[in-house]
Amino acid sequence: MNVFSGINHLTIFILIAGFLLTTNTVVAQAPTNLSQQFIIITVVLSIGLLIVIGILFFLQRRNNKQLKLVIAQLHDAERALNASESRMRAITDIIPAIIAQIDKDQRYVFANAHTGKVLGLDPQLLIGKTLREARGEEHYIEVQSYVEDVLQGKRVRFERSSLLAGKLYYYQSNYVPEFDENQNIKGFLALTFDITALKLAEANLDRLTRTDSLTGIANRRHFDEQLSTALARNRRQERGITLLYLDIDNFKIINDTHGHLVGDSVIVAFCERLQSCVREVDLVARLGGDEFVVLIENSLPETGEIIANKLLASMQQVLVINGMTLPLSASIGVAYCCKTPDAKTIMNIADQALYLAKAAGRNTYRVKLS
Ligand code: GH3
Ligand code: MG
Repeated sequence: MNVFSGINHLTIFILIAGFLLTTNTVVAQAPTNLSQQFIIITVVLSIGLLIVIGILFFLQRRNNKQLKLVIAQLHDAERALNASESRMRAITDIIPAIIAQIDKDQRYVFANAHTGKVLGLDPQLLIGKTLREARGEEHYIEVQSYVEDVLQGKRVRFERSSLLAGKLYYYQSNYVPEFDENQNIKGFLALTFDITALKLAEANLDRLTRTDSLTGIANRRHFDEQLSTALARNRRQERGITLLYLDIDNFKIINDTHGHLVGDSVIVAFCERLQSCVREVDLVARLGGDEFVVLIENSLPETGEIIANKLLASMQQVLVINGMTLPLSASIGVAYCCKTPDAKTIMNIADQALYLAKAAGRNTYRVKLS
């Protein structure tokens, strides 16, 4: 546009200059013959016109060259962009994570191969679709508040689980806002990792820290945690709570006589018998060594005694380990509290009852009510 307006000005300038030059020449030379003057003016104007056409031609050629250069540069830029895009796609496609770019209208702009793999479709089919359309109402409701946060310019990280093709997945998502040159939000990048294996390993580790490795039942840590929640629960029940505290009699002798491995087998056998005498809902735990506990919620004052008798009878049965018949008995302290106490109190009461049972000659139980 500027080039052409420049040409127009130049043309007018040359024409005026040509006209003035001609007039001057005519006046200066003051030819006598009119037809001579006309010829001179025509020649001068023709020369001016030729000069203008030449200049226009020259400028046109120069413009064409510049245009070609710009087009070539545009092609180069497009090629570079395509190369950079395919490089980015190649990189994002090998990352085992969902990588997606979503605009401010919540429509997919980009989705890598893993996204398609997880959703079971060609990732290109996602482009232009909204999150809600692509992932379904249920998933959308789960992530909606995070999407709203990131579209307000906040970085978001969250962990969630979801069912995909009948399988439970745990995932961690990171949403990073994207801004345009005016710092207005234009969308966000979503990076989502599958953390199922990590979560399962964590859960397994957690289970291990709460399990007694020898018997597979709850350990002291798990019991302590469960006792507090059981007591809280029992406060809303009409009945009281019973705690049985058991300790194998003369266990040291078994260890000293037959070795620790045999001792271990005795502990395992004792635990099996203990579990067979109580209900599945009752909490059985090994506190350590040869000490066990049973917690019975919502129980009657006589419940502990009934179970203690059952236990003592069960322990009387012959125990054969490595072909050896071994004696097995336990002393049991029973605490019954009609008004639910705190954890420390009920443990103390059961411990005192156990002490009484040991003092009474072992292989027996004592009950303490409170
Ligand atoms: P009491 O009749 O007064 O209960 O006497 P006891 O011989 O049973 O003595 P006590 O209960 O105090 O001793 C428990 C023993 O259990 C002491 C310890 O060496 C042993 N012990 C602790 N943990 C284990 C274990 O995991 N395996 C084996 N085999 N022995 C253990
Ligand atoms: Mg003992």
